[in-house]
Amino acid sequence: MKITRIRQAVSPISSAIANAYIDFSKMTASVVAVTVEDGGRSATGFGFNSNGRYAQEGLLRERFIPRLEGCALPPHADGGFDPAPAWAAMMKNEKPGGHGERSVAVGVLDMALWDATAKLANKPLWKLLADRFNGGEADPSAWIYAAGGYYYPGKGVGELLEEMRRYLGLGYSVVKMKIGGAPGTPLKDALREDITRIEAVLGLLGGDGSRLCVDVNGRFGLHAALAYGAALTPYGLRWYEEPLDPLDFSTHATLAEHYPHPIATGENLFSMVDARNLIRHGGLRPDRDVLQFDPALSYGLVEYLRTLDMLRAHGWSPRRCVPHGGHQFALNIAVGLGLGGNESYPEVFAPFGGFADDTPVQDSRISMPNAPGIGFERKNDLYAVMRRLA
Ligand code: MG
Repeated sequence: MKITRIRQAVSPISSAIANAYIDFSKMTASVVAVTVEDGGRSATGFGFNSNGRYAQEGLLRERFIPRLEGCALPPHADGGFDPAPAWAAMMKNEKPGGHGERSVAVGVLDMALWDATAKLANKPLWKLLADRFNGGEADPSAWIYAAGGYYYPGKGVGELLEEMRRYLGLGYSVVKMKIGGAPGTPLKDALREDITRIEAVLGLLGGDGSRLCVDVNGRFGLHAALAYGAALTPYGLRWYEEPLDPLDFSTHATLAEHYPHPIATGENLFSMVDARNLIRHGGLRPDRDVLQFDPALSYGLVEYLRTLDMLRAHGWSPRRCVPHGGHQFALNIAVGLGLGGNESYPEVFAPFGGFADDTPVQDSRISMPNAPGIGFERKNDLYAVMRRLA
């Protein structure tokens, strides 16, 4: 089994939204198509990077695509192949540490390899993963939540509530909103404004804090994170996301001593070793906190399998993982490997965010289509982009 063709393109996913740290007006994504042939059989797998990191055209062209071209793939008994040796070929002559954004470039190609191997095995990826790694046990559906509540020019509390109402109408019962983004505002004023926004959304959710997540996108220092944490505590929110710089582990440990409810983080940690540092030094609690490592941004699923092994060795269940990114790749992993769920973007990051067209959301749960591979062919707007590459 051999890789015979790799193509890449850059696609815009820009929009006028912003979180507390960046605006998305110039955001791009890399898209790749990797063709694998085996005698008379062939399959083309597709991959892309999820939002928050830009397209990786140069790294793909100069290093990772050339290393993968012509790569031999060991066949697997299920009719597909094992992507791990291809992953090792991509990482040849790469030193450890200092991951930068090469983890994004490798993740794009890794996604395409898993799509191709599942297509050759004629199985949906979630089923292939369950069969290979989880004793054949896949979840019947995945828990997902609607991530939104971005800052947008002219957007007030009324518009925020309209947005959240739309998510409830789509079948989501848990929603997430951005906080901490009021520009240049003194802490006490920003906090007062955010509490107003939070209480308004909670009003829509019947006052049930377990249906609302808030996301700071790494904006706060320890002082602001503690002040917000104290103010948020009475609401018993589902989780308090990325309150602190994602690489500053000791401040997480301090916050976790003071904030009693779940903290979520990890979407900006890009390797198993980075994830392990968070687990070792971040003071997070395996009975409640939420880990959001995004396989599409962090060297793909070959590396994510190592991360899951590391978590088990440290007493963490895969159910504590709810990946960032709102994409079909992580959704397949969630169902096939028994994670806690997946993010979803009902209104932003099209066409890359979102799931198969014919899988409605019911009570914040979604079932998987039975199509071979990751299921991109069942998502029309995304497949239109990919088909141009193939
Ligand atoms: Mg986030």
